[in-house]
Amino acid sequence: MKANIVLLPGDGIGPEVVCEAVRVLDFVASKYNHTFKFTERLMGGCSIDKYGSSLTDETLADCQSADAVLLGAVGGPKWDDLAAKDRPERGLLALRKGLGVFANLRPVKVHPALMEWSPLKPEKLQGVDILVVRELTGGLYFGWPKGRDIKDGRERAVDTLEYYDYEIRRVVELAFKLAKGRKKKVTSVDKANVLESSRLWRQIATKVGAENKDVELDHMLVDTASMRLITDPAWMDVIVTENMFGDILTDEASVLAGSMGMLPSASLGESGLGLFEPIHGSAPDIAGKGIANPTGTILSSAMLLRHSLKLETEAAAIERAVDETITAGARTADIGGKLTTRQMADEIINRT
Ligand code: NAD
Repeated sequence: MKANIVLLPGDGIGPEVVCEAVRVLDFVASKYNHTFKFTERLMGGCSIDKYGSSLTDETLADCQSADAVLLGAVGGPKWDDLAAKDRPERGLLALRKGLGVFANLRPVKVHPALMEWSPLKPEKLQGVDILVVRELTGGLYFGWPKGRDIKDGRERAVDTLEYYDYEIRRVVELAFKLAKGRKKKVTSVDKANVLESSRLWRQIATKVGAENKDVELDHMLVDTASMRLITDPAWMDVIVTENMFGDILTDEASVLAGSMGMLPSASLGESGLGLFEPIHGSAPDIAGKGIANPTGTILSSAMLLRHSLKLETEAAAIERAVDETITAGARTADIGGKLTTRQMADEIINRT
């Protein structure tokens, strides 16, 4: 197969980990006889520095016409001024919106050999295998009106939590579809006791549940879900939730795995085009040292092969190689070892 992949390495450790994921993809391409063409573009802080914009129209257009986009991470102290007219995160939101990727998938599995790196007791982590499906292009981060004004002599700030029925339905349907290939259990997370948008969410989730009776559905308030993720994570299978709840719960869930550096994510829409990125940020504290864990990005490239290019065998080969690499004891510093980013990627490539 021939595929065009746009690379957005971004800032901090982004370029360091993306470069290793590309080596893995190149290896897979030669082993399985595919041709992957990589086009690298700037996004985030580096793009603000060069073009004065975190995401230029040209970069977005290149991403829109690609088969898949692999992103590193964006941001850093240099661009942290809250009053700045453009910030790296704005580019990320605009990219997701521009690609129409409405669902963010974050699988969270805890490798038995890494349980000691999780803040939870090992007995709580047995059998943890969660997939969080977060709505990505609606809700509080995009609703209108939004902004600040002076009202009755007081400074006021407004954000709007808005959802249309179709936005909820498509992401809940995707969660059910994914649950069918897993333990057939969906937990829909909302705040239906307080929020009108959550009442619509629950109503639609219930309808989709009735159309998919082979999948067990339960509803959970977001406060309960945040507790359950820590007290009984093995109980969870697929979690589906709106944008901001998902933003918070996915970070909480990621802690289970021991290191941010281990986890991948995929953002998908109606078309096959997806955006794939590790869940971690640009880690300015270790950027440039060559010690970042590339595993989350390498696993993101496996998700890219599976979801955008439909190369299941190749995706599974990378995931198996990561599993074996961890079992064999290969470790970067974040999980208690001494391997460099390059050495860790080599260990994975040798087993792919
Ligand atoms: P972070 O994820 O960058 O780092 C948190 C901690 O985890 C740090 O100690 C870091 O060294 C460590 N870490 C992260 N990834 C690692 C890896 N691959 N290997 C080893 N250790 C790793 O989060 P932060 O420090 O809160 O944010 C730093 C910057 O990243 C901020 O500017 C933030 O806005 C940005 N950010 C970007 C994204 C994104 O691009 N999607 C996501 C989160 C944060």
